[in-house]
Amino acid sequence: MQDGSMNISKLEEAVGPYRPSNHLLTGNDMARVACGDCAGCSKCCHEMTDTIKVSPYDLFLLRQGLGLSFEQLLERYLDLTVDHGVILPHLAMEGEDEHCVFLGENGRCTIHPYRTGLCRTFPLGRNYDNETHALTYFVLEGACYKKDQTKVKVKKWLDTPRLAEYEAYLVDWHYYVKDLQERSMELLSSGKQEEAKALAMALLQQFYYAEYDLEGDFYEQYYRIRRQAAR
Ligand code: SF4
Ligand code: SF4
Repeated sequence: MQDGSMNISKLEEAVGPYRPSNHLLTGNDMARVACGDCAGCSKCCHEMTDTIKVSPYDLFLLRQGLGLSFEQLLERYLDLTVDHGVILPHLAMEGEDEHCVFLGENGRCTIHPYRTGLCRTFPLGRNYDNETHALTYFVLEGACYKKDQTKVKVKKWLDTPRLAEYEAYLVDWHYYVKDLQERSMELLSSGKQEEAKALAMALLQQFYYAEYDLEGDFYEQYYRIRRQAAR
């Protein structure tokens, strides 16, 4: 059951038609996605509208890398969007060609070491199994503009430290947001706009405006906030 974390139709609008492969992959599998360092191509850094969502971990990395607060990032680099009744930040696009604000003039990512999880994953998609809550990956066939990709181990492609902890966090975050979205949509459909708004604002306040210790361990802080948010 594919439950990708990107909005599929919006992603198709952004990068053109693609086919999610039926073959689900773990970090130890190989996938034909390596695109030679993207040389000469920055297609997937353009026209992504609001699809490159910034999770709390992404924000933590951005804040570490750029030395900016969430408020400062919102002034220039991030926008907010309503996604199924909750408010989430995403990378801002700018200019006539709608390029990501972090794309350099040379067509290279200027924040490569602390780019978002979705940037690290593309052209793989994430699959969340709603029964087992297992996270796997699938190739977004046709989404990458390079035609001569070579095979690479998925965990190497993801280039994410402490991958098992990261994946457990992603699953937790995915289902937490999904639950809030369902609650918010129920509130909205029964005319309880103010309650839905309060729920959306609480998510932002608790996980994005929160004071993280950027020298400390992200996961410890995240789960502390999660326990408080669940009360
Ligand atoms: S479309 Fe493919 S080759 Fe082009 S920038 Fe994205 S991942 Fe790299
Ligand atoms: S953060 Fe970097 S890799 Fe991601 S869309 Fe922006 S420029 Fe591209």
